[in-house]
Amino acid sequence: MNVLIVYAHPEPKSLNGSLKDFALKRLQDAGHAVQVSDLYAMQWKASLDANDSIERQANERFFPSRESKHAFENGLQSADIAREQGKLMWADAVILQFPLWWFSMPAILKGWVERVYAYGLAYGVGEHSDARWGERYGEGKFAGKRAMLMVTTGGWESHYSPRGINGPMDDVLFPIQHGILYYPGFDVLPPFVVYRTSRIDEENYGAVRDALGQRLDDLWTTKPIPFRQQNGGAYAIPALTLRDDLVPDRVGFAAHVE
Ligand SMILES: Cc1cc2nc3c(=O)[nH]c(=O)nc-3n(C[C@H](O)[C@H](O)[C@H](O)COP(=O)(O)OP(=O)(O)OC[C@H]3O[C@@H](n4cnc5c(N)ncnc54)[C@H](O)[C@@H]3O)c2cc1C
Repeated sequence: MNVLIVYAHPEPKSLNGSLKDFALKRLQDAGHAVQVSDLYAMQWKASLDANDSIERQANERFFPSRESKHAFENGLQSADIAREQGKLMWADAVILQFPLWWFSMPAILKGWVERVYAYGLAYGVGEHSDARWGERYGEGKFAGKRAMLMVTTGGWESHYSPRGINGPMDDVLFPIQHGILYYPGFDVLPPFVVYRTSRIDEENYGAVRDALGQRLDDLWTTKPIPFRQQNGGAYAIPALTLRDDLVPDRVGFAAHVE
């Protein structure tokens, strides 16, 4: 199988750096082909702007989605974007690895998503009608591929528990797992999270590594998070609200998980 690790930490000697090296070796030893996009090492350009097209469609006002569609359809994307898209299409599984920074991914990784997820590739795919609202949330160009987050946090596990002050980790990660991964079609595996990283030392690092190793060994057999398919009948179209008779007492993020 082909695995792409998109890795966002500026320091190779960090905990994230160690875990990335470990993951790479573990996957390779298991016979998988692995590519790593080490965003800081690549000096990845984080900001989406008019320079992302080799040839602009119009020279006046910059319309991000329109330019993205035009560049994607006509082979006019800048080379760094096209290269990352090639890796995505090559991969059977994608791992996004990052330290949680301000309750989300580091800006450089968000910028990777914004620029690589072109119109026509990750969004704006499929027909909109009374029965379907594009190919997204369970359908799309990345359907059949698996994705998993590898995240480290300063906060304790209890801080991210169902009644923890930071909000439940499932909620914190929902915009990434449901919005960035499930939306274009990935099957999203439960995340691998390392909490309270300041407590990691030589002694307990082994346990973290072993737990990660097990998750990597199980990459092809772990059950994905059962997010509800958009076009499977659970949602009214085009309002895209969950049918009234389905879990009527549940609201918010949790309602979108079967
Ligand atoms: C801008 C910013 C925003 C943040 N926002 C949040 C937030 O919203 N929520 C939150 O919970 N946290 C937040 N944090 C904390 C952040 O998530 C953690 O600092 C980060 O996850 C730690 O990962 P690291 O790879 O940088 O760890 P490091 O600091 O590199 O390492 C952590 C510990 O692991 C040890 N270690 C590293 N490698 C090894 C090894 N090979 N063997 C044994 N021990 C090792 C180190 O000695 C250290 O004690 C934020 C931090 C920053 C800088």
